[in-house]
Amino acid sequence: MKMVFLGPPGAGKGTLSSLASKRLGLPHISTGDLFREAVRRETELGKKVKGIMAEGKLVPDELTIALVSERLAAPDTASGWILDGFPRTIPQAEALQAIEPVDLVVDFDVGDELILMRLTGRRVCGSCGKIYHVATMPPKVEGVCDVCGKPLTTRPDDREEAIRTRLAAYREQTQPLIAWYGEQGIIESIDGSGSPETVYGLFAGALARHHS
Ligand SMILES: [Zn+2]
Repeated sequence: MKMVFLGPPGAGKGTLSSLASKRLGLPHISTGDLFREAVRRETELGKKVKGIMAEGKLVPDELTIALVSERLAAPDTASGWILDGFPRTIPQAEALQAIEPVDLVVDFDVGDELILMRLTGRRVCGSCGKIYHVATMPPKVEGVCDVCGKPLTTRPDDREEAIRTRLAAYREQTQPLIAWYGEQGIIESIDGSGSPETVYGLFAGALARHHS
């Protein structure tokens, strides 16, 4: 099964990707990991990526596509894969169809208000890096790290205004992609607002429907 997972930041796509990868025995391929791995191994593509990232620029489509293409040729992808974070645009999706046609696109749908609750509640220890959540994973003492006793802070990225900007950019970019996959009848929209097990159950149902 060749799958693409789509979803806004805070939709829990990373958690679902790891769960699905373990349970279905398919590699979880994220473009972020591919970039880091290529840079670490100092491949030809990796050297190009490193230079671009050092300048603070976005990795261009043709380079991302080359990396994805290389990864999808690896032996562990014989029975399928889960792509996370790619494609983001119709040109990228067209390039992917030319390399390896996708069987199923899963769109994890979570409303903006829930995403805001999830992300604005995040607190991080500035000293040891441990992550907390005011509602779902609070520290023993409010505002203080359990591990090292240092004060907890909110990342600039997790402030409401920054999240709203990221969400709007995500929706604007992916709406045409969702419609494009919709025309091909290979997209399933899943309610991503429940617990990881609840969302996994919905995903498993969609997978079964798609198989039959
Ligand atoms: Zn700490």
